[in-house]
Amino acid sequence: MDRIDADRLLGDLATLRSFGAHGNGVVRTMFSEIDVAAREWLVERMSEAGLEARIDGVGSVYGRSPNPGPAVVLGSHTDTQPEGGWLDGAMGVIHGLEVARALLADPATSHLAVDVASWADEEGTYGGFLGSRSFVGALTDEDFQATNADGESVQQVLDRLGWADRPRAELDPARHVAALESHIEQGPHLEHQGLRIGAVTAIVGIRGYEVVFSGQQNHAGTTPMDLRKDAAMAMFHFCSALDDRLRAAAGERSVWTVGQVSVEPGAPSIVPGRATIAIQFRDADDTVLDRMASVVEALVAERHSPDGVHVEITDRRRPLAPAPMESGVVAHVSAAAEAIAPGAWTHMPSAAGHDAQVLAPHLPTGMIFIPSINGVSHDFAEDSDHADIVLGAEVLADAVVRILS
Ligand SMILES: [Zn+2]
Repeated sequence: MDRIDADRLLGDLATLRSFGAHGNGVVRTMFSEIDVAAREWLVERMSEAGLEARIDGVGSVYGRSPNPGPAVVLGSHTDTQPEGGWLDGAMGVIHGLEVARALLADPATSHLAVDVASWADEEGTYGGFLGSRSFVGALTDEDFQATNADGESVQQVLDRLGWADRPRAELDPARHVAALESHIEQGPHLEHQGLRIGAVTAIVGIRGYEVVFSGQQNHAGTTPMDLRKDAAMAMFHFCSALDDRLRAAAGERSVWTVGQVSVEPGAPSIVPGRATIAIQFRDADDTVLDRMASVVEALVAERHSPDGVHVEITDRRRPLAPAPMESGVVAHVSAAAEAIAPGAWTHMPSAAGHDAQVLAPHLPTGMIFIPSINGVSHDFAEDSDHADIVLGAEVLADAVVRILS
């Protein structure tokens, strides 16, 4: 397929990268001055491509095709983490722009309707997924009170920018038939397998627990070992057993993390009286998540000792369910991948969260991955091969034509 203009695509990505460039990476957090400038540039670029583009009432940039539906929505996000890479989100937005203008310019496809979005606040500088959640009608008043690290709320910043009363882009079931998000993988799997395209089957779900160990605080010199109720030592043994048992219960791509630990009072000469850990695990399959959850629950029940260290679950994080991509869209993405990159693609889950998981319950949604060099993301070092960036756009364009034909 020659309808994608590689120089134009990479040129726009380079320009977007210049907004907030920081060494190899980018700092462009939501609603920062540089983020607003990038959004204004994107509106111009979309308008030049023939889209009816504007910044909407929550800060998303939305470019509507002049063609009547059925329409496919393409896009991702242009906001970044406080230390972000140049492709996370940005690639999917510029891919959408390039595919929309390429299809509009080709007489064979100029009748197809492709809308393009840069969804606001995917990275959670405020509440996270603001733009995509607004699009599917899931925002509440509470979302407008979410604040950034400086304490400014979404409502305050929208008022300050003069965007608060603007209409918001909305999902139109009579027009929108599918959504596609292309993105860097942000992990190592494609690179390790020597593959170039991932047809995403589902976005992982997340479960989380807080577990508290309550023992007896005492003097670290005078308390004999056999009389101790050491909360920290109980916690270390628990974590070691947890790791072994989760390894046995988990799926091939399950991940688990004890990312937060506190020991109280936390002094070298005090036997700790209390310890708290946060356990999180992720998988694309709810039955695997159930299995991992029962490992945690069983281990807590087993280790709970009323005479020694009490172990209990004090918080179960609200489960985030896996978001399956729609099978018809996945089939079109797979067919496009096989046509453009025969033998160099695979089905795979997404281990990271994306706007696509917000859209998926509301309209048929799919995702396309390209490899991340060394599997690195959320870091200035994030990068991908330019040839893979172009290939991803070609697969995206082909998938759109298949969906709309
Ligand atoms: Zn992203």
